[in-house]
Amino acid sequence: MEIKELEKLKLKKKSAWEKYKDDTSKVFKFCENYKKFLDFAKTERRAFYYIYDEAKKNGFTDFNEGKDKLIFKNRNKSIAIAKIGKKPLKYGIKLIVSHIDAPRLDLKQNPLFEEANVGLLRTHYYGGIKKYHWVSIPLSFFGTFIKENGEVLEIIIGEDENDPVFTITDLLPHLARKVQGEKKLSEALPAEKLVVTFGGIPFFDDEEDKEVKDAIKLNILKILNEKYNLIEEDFLSAEVEIVPSFKAKDVGIDRSFVGAYGQDDRVCAYTSLRAILDMEGNEYTTVVLFADKEEIGSDGNTGCKARFLEYIVANILKIAEPGNANEFYLKEVLFNSKAISADVNGALDPVFQEVHEPQNAAIIGNGVCVTKFTGHGGKYSANDAHAEYMGYIRNLFNKNGIIWQTGELGKVDEGGGGTVAKFLAEYGMDIIDCGVVLLGMHSPFEISSKVDVYETYLAYKCFLEK
Ligand code: MN
Ligand code: MN
Repeated sequence: MEIKELEKLKLKKKSAWEKYKDDTSKVFKFCENYKKFLDFAKTERRAFYYIYDEAKKNGFTDFNEGKDKLIFKNRNKSIAIAKIGKKPLKYGIKLIVSHIDAPRLDLKQNPLFEEANVGLLRTHYYGGIKKYHWVSIPLSFFGTFIKENGEVLEIIIGEDENDPVFTITDLLPHLARKVQGEKKLSEALPAEKLVVTFGGIPFFDDEEDKEVKDAIKLNILKILNEKYNLIEEDFLSAEVEIVPSFKAKDVGIDRSFVGAYGQDDRVCAYTSLRAILDMEGNEYTTVVLFADKEEIGSDGNTGCKARFLEYIVANILKIAEPGNANEFYLKEVLFNSKAISADVNGALDPVFQEVHEPQNAAIIGNGVCVTKFTGHGGKYSANDAHAEYMGYIRNLFNKNGIIWQTGELGKVDEGGGGTVAKFLAEYGMDIIDCGVVLLGMHSPFEISSKVDVYETYLAYKCFLEK
């Protein structure tokens, strides 16, 4: 063989931009709408509303009123949309599962206090954050309050141009030498110091001359009561999420990247949503599920361990094949299904390459990333997809011109992470991780490549269609 022939035997890595070198318009247009979604859907509830509205606009209906384009809701936090296919359900369904929760700061149940003329809110972080990322940036307040009489108040502050924002102040460097500088990075900012600056004007009592106790806290409660009809006890039956205020932006002189909060995993949520809405044909029954609680282990009744999928497929059976709506058949359908765990992976970090094993790390801009296994050292706690299923995905993507790559999260002994794949694998279905790679993952401003976002959308679409 000639050397030229031999070269062809090698596995090549290539930039996905090459596919669009003559025309990037589809990629850029797709990401304009993606950014709008990110700006709207900064919490799992907001993502839920967006997905529900889009599904409705596209002819999907609540499952108990529908026939073939169905919506399944789980407590305003997790949602699925499904399309009944031509093939009998015993051949399994095509399933894509992403998650719509993201790392953030939750308010504690009793959050409000004041110190040194500042009204403050105590937080408990949610998911894996680097605490130092959350200081000195503008923050927004997304609250869902359930009043004693059951009334629901959704309060958002910080997102409108004219809204105030909030922040967590950091210690000035002049005084940080010992209390922060000599500590380990993970200990320099204890969680209890992540308190949100919330107000600063005291309440003055005109009637009495004596000093009012907790006057700033009182004034904050006065404003919350006048503007939002809240009392302090309402925080006990509330969920308040504190998230970055800034909007999704193009990053780079060539606008190649999207920078935004919450792209893990709303990038896979958005691309899988668009995929089912835009897909052509209906060979298999397809389900696209948007889960909550992934960032804290998928526990809880809106997380992937809660068997919401069983409830969905049981109801699909009842609608599409009433004669087969039984426990045995449900197991059969799930066992024969094919799934994608649609989640992000970390891209090879250009300046911290030492944590990766570059030959097997995914590279930003090289297309959708297929991750055969997650877990940590020794593949512990991983869904390790079989070669057969990997072969199926490889064939599918290659045949349909999808630019894809494989990725391993970091060096073997470096760390690790998990996704929902292993929980869905419990049903016996084939499942593999597949999604966008990010730089700065789990930071308040994560970076994706627009071409990877678009390629992921195309990959999900062809998975559902074929
Ligand atoms: Mn994720
Ligand atoms: Mn994550």
